[in-house]
Amino acid sequence: MSFSATVLTLHPEMFPGALGHSLAGRALQAGTWSLETVQIRDFATDRHRTVDDTPAGGGAGMVMRADVLARALDRAAPQGDARPRLLMSPRGAPLTQRRVRELAAGPGAVILCGRFEGVDQRLIEGRDLEEVSIGDYILSGGEPAALVLLDAVVRLLPGVMGNEASGEEESFESGLLEHPHYTRPQEWEGRPIPEVLTSGNHARIAAWRRERALELTRARRPDLLSGKNRDGER
Ligand code: SAH
Repeated sequence: MSFSATVLTLHPEMFPGALGHSLAGRALQAGTWSLETVQIRDFATDRHRTVDDTPAGGGAGMVMRADVLARALDRAAPQGDARPRLLMSPRGAPLTQRRVRELAAGPGAVILCGRFEGVDQRLIEGRDLEEVSIGDYILSGGEPAALVLLDAVVRLLPGVMGNEASGEEESFESGLLEHPHYTRPQEWEGRPIPEVLTSGNHARIAAWRRERALELTRARRPDLLSGKNRDGER
């Protein structure tokens, strides 16, 4: 059974975008995953096909309407659809490799992309949406966030990566940042490849890589070691 993604958006032309190329694109062609987009505007009922309105209580911007979004969602993911329903949102739980792996092991995802100031809170509660953030910054819309999430998930699907092993050595999979990489030429602008890497001694190489990974993690992301932020692990 392949991973089935449904994306609800006001901009379906943004998909598959980057995911139509390279690894994800080939996997899409091969049927390893499928991507359906739903134009939210098609579920508006008025003559102007309105999907948003001014915020209750006043203030700047517009808010996406719960009724329109619910119609789109109920059509895209009717009762009994086992896929998790995600809302891309800067207020959501930060996306982690652990959650990415869980999603990749499941049947797919229904992903709602916000625009404007966001969506009516009653929709989030009434349809039990899982809010997911891709980081502490504000995008103009949920579409790039959905592309990021799907990219991370799709590369973990069986058969997508040429070298299956490389998925497990990545940053975060071990709870650490990854060690640095080198390739030919042996010397570049006076900088040689660290001697140990050309020694052929696999035990020494493994130890060196582990040491560099620890060093980098200590310097850049001590939170990953302290246990406060170890979601990337395993
Ligand atoms: N007013 C909102 C931001 C709205 S940005 C606030 O301050 O919280 C418009 C849309 O972009 C959001 O509804 C969401 O779908 C998407 N978005 C913006 N930043 C995001 C992030 N860091 N992660 C995931 N989605 C994001």
